[in-house]
Amino acid sequence: MTKILIAEDNAVNRELLRELLEARGYAVDEACDGQEALDMIAQNQPDILLLDIGMPVLDGFAVVSKIRENPRLASLPVVAVTAYAMHGDREKILNSKFDGYLSKPVNARALTEELERLFGTRENRDVPPDPPHEGDASGKTRAAGSSK
Ligand code: MN
Repeated sequence: MTKILIAEDNAVNRELLRELLEARGYAVDEACDGQEALDMIAQNQPDILLLDIGMPVLDGFAVVSKIRENPRLASLPVVAVTAYAMHGDREKILNSKFDGYLSKPVNARALTEELERLFGTRENRDVPPDPPHEGDASGKTRAAGSSK
């Protein structure tokens, strides 16, 4: 089963991402700050990391730098997940060590497309089918749009 680690300090956002991902057949782990994310990567070896930028202890930029500096982790796909929709931040993320970018609140379709894009670059990787209750999942995402 494909494992995805969510690193996000906001509990509501973690839960929303977990629901979207589990509905798509992924196994989900959660980390609440940057250091916990690094610890869980070492322990659980996720296939993809969804990484919030604004987090305590270590922020997303620091976490992705440590991942890229580690030869054993350097190829881990890392997707930035951020509410910082400002121009400079998006440019900084796209020109940095991240493999992709999702803005919060995370849109169910954008999430699916990003995962398919990342897994599509690897051979022998099965992408889970879309879940039967797409409407439910995206409705929940919109309902939590005000949270950060
Ligand atoms: Mn945050």
